[in-house]
Amino acid sequence: MKDNGEIYNMMKQFNQFIQNLFDHSKTIPVSKISFDTEVRRLCEQNMCGQYGKSWTCPPAIDTIEKLQSRMSIFNHFLVFYKIYSLEDSFDWEGMMNSIKDFQSRTLKLKKKINQTEPDLNFFILGAGSCQLCDTCTYPQQKPCKKPKDALFSIESFGIDAMKIMKDNGLKYNNGPNTVTYIGGLFYC
Ligand code: SF4
Repeated sequence: MKDNGEIYNMMKQFNQFIQNLFDHSKTIPVSKISFDTEVRRLCEQNMCGQYGKSWTCPPAIDTIEKLQSRMSIFNHFLVFYKIYSLEDSFDWEGMMNSIKDFQSRTLKLKKKINQTEPDLNFFILGAGSCQLCDTCTYPQQKPCKKPKDALFSIESFGIDAMKIMKDNGLKYNNGPNTVTYIGGLFYC
């Protein structure tokens, strides 16, 4: 098992890569993160229209309690986010294109860590329902087409992204006609 100094040096090598992919990032202790079943209840209300449509969204995934227990082996959570411009606040196409871009960046980070540090134990969360395939195979066809790449959202784990930003002095609302997408990296 790596000590704190080794982990710090290891993560340092990804700093530039993360800065190139995202607008801002900040590492916070996992102990400061709340895993909240109320956030899962918002998923169940299907405000985003993706409930029951992805292998990486409820009800296909574990309960919040189980996910929290799985993530409790990690010490750090690196929050990263990117701000996108929209034509106006109804620019649905702009939002969809932005989220796809954010997921592509999140996947690049995931692959980079896997290639550079194959022994590093980490877990990455993105924004929104996984959009890596044109149509998710859930629930008709099993299994997920790209299980190594598939992206889970912060909210699907019961984490309130807005609260994390606010609690840690990060700006969630970045002005009119913008949308901010947030992801996170759990590591030891
Ligand atoms: S990788 Fe494809 S099949 Fe798997 S969760 Fe994402 S969209 Fe669905």
